[in-house]
Amino acid sequence: MLRRSEAIVLRTTPFSEADLIVTTLTLDYGMIKAFAKSPRKTRSRFGSSLEPLTYSKLAFWGREDANLPRLTQSDIIKPFQAIRDRMDCFFRVTEMVELTLNLLPEREAHRDIFHLFLSILDMIEGDSPEDDSSVLTVLLYKIRFLDMVGYGPRLEGCARCGKSGYNFYISHGSIICGLCAKGMDAPMRLSPGVIKSYDTLRRWDIAKIGRIKLSRMILSELSGMLDTHIQYTAAKPMRTKVVQS
Ligand SMILES: [Zn+2]
Repeated sequence: MLRRSEAIVLRTTPFSEADLIVTTLTLDYGMIKAFAKSPRKTRSRFGSSLEPLTYSKLAFWGREDANLPRLTQSDIIKPFQAIRDRMDCFFRVTEMVELTLNLLPEREAHRDIFHLFLSILDMIEGDSPEDDSSVLTVLLYKIRFLDMVGYGPRLEGCARCGKSGYNFYISHGSIICGLCAKGMDAPMRLSPGVIKSYDTLRRWDIAKIGRIKLSRMILSELSGMLDTHIQYTAAKPMRTKVVQS
C-alpha cells in the first residue's frame, strides 16, 4: 500500500553501504521510521530531500504494519537549509528533535505536534543571526510539546492541595507546598518570574510570542528546570499515552 504525507525529517541513520533509515515526523501517521534505498550513492535530489529538518511530501510503500516501509519519493516543500547552516541554531534544534524522538510514541498521528514543530522551524529560520531568539523559541517548543504528550511539569499549584508555591519536586514533576511536602527531599526553588513566564509560554498565541522578552536569568532558570524535568521524565518508562487534542 502506498501512503503519502507531509513530513519533517528528524534523523537519518546510515544502513549498509548506501542506504538510510529515515525517522520522520509525518502529518498523517505520526512518527515513522522508513527505509530509503541508495540516497547516499549520488548527490541526488532524493538524497538532499532526506537531510534532517527538511519539510517535504513523502510517499512510502509497505503494509500498514510493515516494520520498515520503503520511502519511494520525497518532494521538498521547504529545506530549512538556513538552520542547518548555523551551528548554534542547529545544535538547539537538535534538542527539540531528541526530545521528540524520546517521548513521542511511533505511528500515532499527532497533527498538533507536527504543526507546532513546523511553526517553530519557521520562527527559527526567520530569526536574524544578530537577534538570536532561538533559545526562547526552542524552549517554547519543549514546553508545548511536553504539554501535548502529557509530560508537562505542573507549576500552577501544589500537586496535592492546589495551593500556589515555589518548591518544585523533580520526582513528582510538580510544585508541592510546604505543608504537603513534610518529610520529602529538598526541592528546587523556583522564582515567581519563572512560574509566570512558564504560564505565558504555555498559553499565549504562538504568533505573539515574539513580543515576550525574558531576562537572561529567568531564561536560564526556566531552561534549567525544564531540562532537569525532561531528563528525569525521559529516563522513566512511558507513564501515559499521548493526550489527543
Ligand atoms: Zn499542598
